[in-house]
Amino acid sequence: MVESNASAKFWLVLQAIVWAVCLAMVILLFVKPAIGLHAFWDVLIPVAPALIALLPGVWRNICPTATMSQLPRRFGISKKKKMSVKIHGRLVLLSVLLLFAIIPLRHTYFDLNGPATGTFLIVATLVAIFLAYTYDGKSGWCASLCPVHQVEKLYGQKPAATVDNSHCAECSKCVTGCPDSTPAASPHLGGKVWTRRAAAFGLIGAFPGYVWGWFQVQDYATLSAGLENIVNTYAIPVIGGTVTLALYALLISSVPLQKRKTIDRFFAAGAISCYYWYRIPWLLGFSQFDGNGMLVDLTDTISPIVIFVVPYVTTAFWVWWIALKRNGLRSWMKMPPKTNNSIATVDITVSA
Ligand code: SF4
Repeated sequence: MVESNASAKFWLVLQAIVWAVCLAMVILLFVKPAIGLHAFWDVLIPVAPALIALLPGVWRNICPTATMSQLPRRFGISKKKKMSVKIHGRLVLLSVLLLFAIIPLRHTYFDLNGPATGTFLIVATLVAIFLAYTYDGKSGWCASLCPVHQVEKLYGQKPAATVDNSHCAECSKCVTGCPDSTPAASPHLGGKVWTRRAAAFGLIGAFPGYVWGWFQVQDYATLSAGLENIVNTYAIPVIGGTVTLALYALLISSVPLQKRKTIDRFFAAGAISCYYWYRIPWLLGFSQFDGNGMLVDLTDTISPIVIFVVPYVTTAFWVWWIALKRNGLRSWMKMPPKTNNSIATVDITVSA
């Protein structure tokens, strides 16, 4: 009990710190957009995929949108409605569609527009609060509609550590087969309804190519320039995503069911490797599009040979971590004690 109180306090302090930093960042997006945009898109977002892959439980405990969305539950004012399997599946599919719809908009709108990014974050947080106010536990947002959640399940299949669940002091079984407490959670978690199966298939197969395609498009400085190039901005990621999706479909159709997990993990490793393959050089000023996504210009300081080698090193690491390493089916978080009336209506099974 002493240990769990200390743990709860630890997470509360960490959540408060991250929340305060993110609030400052959102304010900067409006009053000092150049600084706010760098802080969000060039510091927080590049760190997020690695954190999600290595310590998904930590990410889910400290994510500021999750912290805000869980306030109604913390203050005991959530309506705690149980979500049906059908609605849950639809929200999961919608979360993947939103992910694919939002990512290219970074080039046309969000990457260079502080107030647009700030407004987007505020709206997403309000939606998360409303859904978590309406539905029980994390079923309304963190385990369904949040566009990042499906990526958590894609990248976070081999967590480095299992941590306490800071948002669930008790488990009300808001979802059965909880993504936080299920060992080696993957996008296939809950494949009983077609919407969940379609979401998993589309995300795993298309994401590597989509990420590659995103890095083949430049940022547009004005909204009108972005709108003029909107077709191009979507077309290249969509083409990339379609190619890897077709490859994925071919591979899974030609191997036995039990081998598909390995293919899934190579595709997950492919997506995150592709992200860092481009993102690290871009952060240091080595983008093919002059200065896009740059945090600090080190083009005169770092040898191009180093920049050439780094992507191979990060790729080797992610392939090893996600696809090859054995880590004994760890879950992201420890299962909290169950409440007496924890009746689940969301039927989720592990199919991978
Ligand atoms: S631990 Fe229980 S209450 Fe918390 S997200 Fe998982 S299923 Fe929902």
